[in-house]
Amino acid sequence: MAETFNVLALAGDYVGPEVVGAGLEVLVHAAKTNGLAVAVEEGLIGGASWDVHGTFCTDETLEKARHADAVLVGAVGGPKWDHIKIDGPITETDGLTRLRVELDIYNALRPVRSWKPLLGRTPYRPEVVDGADIMVIRENCGGIYYGEPRGQETLADGQQRAFEISEYTTSEVERIARAAFEEARRRRNQVTSIDKSNVMESGKLWRETVSRIGADEYPDVGLQHLLADYALYALVDRPRDFDVVLADNLFGDLVSDMVGTLAGSLGMLPSATLPRDARPGEKIKPGVFEPSHGTAPDIAGQGIANPIGTILSVAMMFEYAFARQHIARSIESAVEQTLEEGILTPDLGGAARTAEVTARILHHLV
Ligand code: NAD
Repeated sequence: MAETFNVLALAGDYVGPEVVGAGLEVLVHAAKTNGLAVAVEEGLIGGASWDVHGTFCTDETLEKARHADAVLVGAVGGPKWDHIKIDGPITETDGLTRLRVELDIYNALRPVRSWKPLLGRTPYRPEVVDGADIMVIRENCGGIYYGEPRGQETLADGQQRAFEISEYTTSEVERIARAAFEEARRRRNQVTSIDKSNVMESGKLWRETVSRIGADEYPDVGLQHLLADYALYALVDRPRDFDVVLADNLFGDLVSDMVGTLAGSLGMLPSATLPRDARPGEKIKPGVFEPSHGTAPDIAGQGIANPIGTILSVAMMFEYAFARQHIARSIESAVEQTLEEGILTPDLGGAARTAEVTARILHHLV
């Protein structure tokens, strides 16, 4: 009997259902042609959940996610819900953040590569970007976004003071460092860790800890440390020199979007966020797989969203959640062939619709 994987699909808002619909078509097709079975359950998150349940992520959705083999997410939020103000931590005000924190999915993998047919769509000269292939590993559950205390207060002179804390513990850095070294072993064996250890205490602990894990456990993997400001310069200047880039939550947030420019469109970028480091052949659950883009309210409902970021997230699901690396590679190859044919959505300069791009990718998927 075919192995069955249980996938929870949380499409979210605006363009979310359009791209998740495309992702599910590829998921089901690729599973079937490879003798796997997937059982897909659909649920609500973000504004879609608010409209029905009065909360951005219900306890029930969380429980289903905990027990799923993988979670496919579209994107959440948008103008319809911007006016809703809830007192409390960010986990109450953002359904996706609640999912990430409660599942403790600290290992965020944000791969970015250049695509030959799209070289002219990037802000780089083709010879600078051709062949670039970078995996940003972002620590996703700690750091300045979650440090306590945080808040605002009124000072004696009437000014407001706003504050948050950048903090990391040794074990938080150790686990994300291992995630980066493990990923490098699957790739080209080189980690660049970025921090601001010249001015931040959390940066000093970060650098010391990454160095120790590298020396003690991964002596076969190359490691360099760069200060985050220079790292951004170097990544733009010579992106092909980088393999795995390891960063804390804040720097990882920034660097992953910045290197995203290598791909030619925000709509091209996938992600996987995992509760563990990823070792070859192991199935990791429950990971959350989602495109990097937001809900794109400006194009929602028109059928022109680029589905490729979501489809490549499905490829990552095959690789990391189902341990089927070869299926991931065949999805990437089907995407490449479709791009080579010039079947491109408007964000890539074409006129193809979401459905047409998806159908062509399915056609190429063997
Ligand atoms: P966005 O990513 O939604 O859109 C930025 C630009 O990129 C827009 O012009 C949009 O049309 C375009 N774009 C995005 N995805 C595309 C796709 N698949 N195909 C073609 N074009 C695409 O960012 P934004 O406008 O800053 O945010 C809109 C909403 O999305 C906000 O409410 C924001 O909070 C939310 N958001 C959610 C997530 C998430 O759920 N992970 C991430 C970022 C933003």
